[in-house]
Amino acid sequence: MSIVGHFINGASNETHSRLQDIYNPATGEVSRQVAIAPKTTVEDAISAAHAAFPQWRDTPPMKRARIMFRYKQLLEERADEICRLIGQEHGKIVHDAAGELQRGIENVEYACGAPEILKGEFSKNVGPGINSWSDFQPLGVVAGITPFNFPAMVPLWMYPLALVCGNTFVLKPSERDPSATLYIGQLLKEAGLPDGVFNIVNGDKEAVDTLLTDKRVKAVSFVGSTPVAQYIYATATANGKRCQALGGAKNHAIVMPDADMENVVNSLLGAAFGSSGERCMALSVAVAIGDDIADELVSQLKDRMSSLKMGVYSDKNNDFGPVITREHQQKVFGHITSAEQQGATIVVDGRKTQVSGYENGFFVGATLIDNVTTQMDSYQAEIFGPVLQVIRAKSMQEAMDMIDEHEYGNGTCIYTRDGEAANYFADYIQVGMVGINIPLPVPVSYHSFGGWKNSLFGDLHAYGPDGVRFYTRRKTITQRWPSANLREGAEFSMPTMK
Ligand code: NAD
Repeated sequence: MSIVGHFINGASNETHSRLQDIYNPATGEVSRQVAIAPKTTVEDAISAAHAAFPQWRDTPPMKRARIMFRYKQLLEERADEICRLIGQEHGKIVHDAAGELQRGIENVEYACGAPEILKGEFSKNVGPGINSWSDFQPLGVVAGITPFNFPAMVPLWMYPLALVCGNTFVLKPSERDPSATLYIGQLLKEAGLPDGVFNIVNGDKEAVDTLLTDKRVKAVSFVGSTPVAQYIYATATANGKRCQALGGAKNHAIVMPDADMENVVNSLLGAAFGSSGERCMALSVAVAIGDDIADELVSQLKDRMSSLKMGVYSDKNNDFGPVITREHQQKVFGHITSAEQQGATIVVDGRKTQVSGYENGFFVGATLIDNVTTQMDSYQAEIFGPVLQVIRAKSMQEAMDMIDEHEYGNGTCIYTRDGEAANYFADYIQVGMVGINIPLPVPVSYHSFGGWKNSLFGDLHAYGPDGVRFYTRRKTITQRWPSANLREGAEFSMPTMK
């Protein structure tokens, strides 16, 4: 059985307090084991990053960016291998893994602009003979803690930008599918990154707690579920660290009576069931305005769902794969059963769907549930599976109130042909990322990604301009070179521009 270890100070390392099984979710079999790092191994990674910081901090941004140019090329050249590793442990189909990787690479491309994004601000003559400028300086050692559902993209949201900003980094990937993350991390060495600047430790809560409490770690970026995000944010900030912690989601799509129904059905199918619904931007609730549009939507979705293909990652013809673990599969089944028991209508039931040849895989068939209400447990929870729930509302305002009252505020979308309604929705809805006839409004790498309410703890969103702000701190310098005609006597009142 091969062991997935750590990457510390430019070298592989398999130190562990225990080994944890990694599954191939399509077969249900254990495929590898991951080394769970003891506290001392995490401290070794922090020490390596801490020692590498002074030299990396003073490396010119252009040189740091050149490493990212080479890194982008390596990620593209090794794309097939990366997608295979994602498929083996996460289960997502290779075309979906390729999309994830591409969205990750776009963050490397943004990081290649380091000299431009770190240029700072300069003001000449803020007072007589006085110039002032602001620098954006690195923080030091930064930690990243990432979830299972995007083993390449979410880590790439973090470290390329943190590194080009001059920080050193310790990444703690998800222990459920760590191989793709380890593989892409190690490519940084091949791209020319000095040893110690970037490190990976695999582990569980003990590793995370070490990162959250060690004084040498200055900032923590987290992406995962809301209860853990809350814990990370509270613990990191209590330990004096800067923290951004992105949490869970429940994303609603409002379907207005004037929407282009073909576009709605096509995009809802992809956004609800793609990646088995295991995306924080998955559209898991469709709110139809009026019974006529709801009946039409449910009928068309039901017809189309019969031809969806679920199966193993390597078959490009499949639309989506299994969920991550047996435990998660049972949890998703539990949500469907609870909706049924609380009075919803199960229109398409994925609880018994089997994949021929993969009977022991963690599959959940695409499921459509109608007549869902906001009181139901399945509505309140983030299901994180291929389950689309339909709610019937009387007006757009009723639908917006529903979305605003939900604890999560990650993404949302409105389907309509009415520009005035769409603008009102985009302006007032209490959600961080909004689509207008766009189902998965994941911001491009030169904007920033983040939800509102319980979908994000902290002030700054991930990557893009907010990422630069998160991974740097501002220093403002005010300068004058005294000369004979500018020399002043002692000044006891607050200095002003004279
Ligand atoms: P998770 O919260 O279980 O795990 C995330 C990370 O935290 C992992 O590295 C894990 O090892 C660590 N962790 C887990 N429990 C911990 C604990 N008690 N103490 C310290 N560390 C702990 O999340 P997951 O199941 O891997 O990922 C799915 C979740 O992530 C979903 O809720 C999804 O919505 C969310 N997510 C959010 C975004 C976003 O941008 N908002 C993006 C992707 C995923």
